[in-house]
Amino acid sequence: MTQAGQLSIGGVLIDAAAIQRRVDELAVEIDAAYPVLEQPLVLICVLKGSILFTADLARALSVPIELEFVACRSYGDATSSSGTVELVKDVSMSLKDRDVLMVEDIIDTGLTTSFLRKHLATHHPRSLRLVSLLDKRSHRMREVQIDFRGFDIPDHFVVGYGLDLAQRHRNLRAVHIVDVS
Ligand code: 5GP
Repeated sequence: MTQAGQLSIGGVLIDAAAIQRRVDELAVEIDAAYPVLEQPLVLICVLKGSILFTADLARALSVPIELEFVACRSYGDATSSSGTVELVKDVSMSLKDRDVLMVEDIIDTGLTTSFLRKHLATHHPRSLRLVSLLDKRSHRMREVQIDFRGFDIPDHFVVGYGLDLAQRHRNLRAVHIVDVS
C-alpha cells in the first residue's frame, strides 16, 4: 500500500491482462466502425490521463492513424471536479473534414468531455466520436455519448494506467481503487 496523505492505493479493480484484452477488443470495434477512411483517423489523446490508453489503443488498431493531443484543466480537489473546465492545450493541426476519435481515460461527471466535444466540433471534423476506457456513470452531470466503452466502473476514485492521484501512480499497470481513510 502507498500512502498519499489520508488516501491510500488499495486493491486492483481491473488487472493489467483484462485491460489489454479490452483494449484489443475496442480496437476491433473501432476498426470495424471506420471501414472506409479517406484520410487517417485522428486519435485525440486527452492529456495526461489518456496517454497510456492512447498508446496501447494506437498500437492495437489496424486503421491508419494520426495522433494529436489536447489538455484541459478542471478545477476541484484531489478526487472531485468543481464543474469548471478550460482548455490549456488545443490541437496543432487542422481537423477540418477529418475523422476524429477522442480518447478519454474516464468519464465521470461528463463535464470535461462535453466541453471538449463542443470545442472540437468548432474545428469542423467530418466525424467526431468518443472512446473511453472507463465509465463512472454515478456522478454524471452531462449526458455524454460514448461510442466505444471499455469498462463500467462503480463510484470509486481510481488510479493507474494513466490515471493519477496528485500526479502520481499513472504508471501502475492495473486500475486500482483509492481508499479514503
Ligand atoms: P469529468 O469531467 O467527466 O468529471 O472527469 C474527467 C476527468 O476527471 C478525467 O479525465 C480524469 O482526469 C478526472 N477523473 C474523474 N474520475 C477520476 C478517477 O476516478 N480517478 C482519477 N485519477 N481521475 C479521475
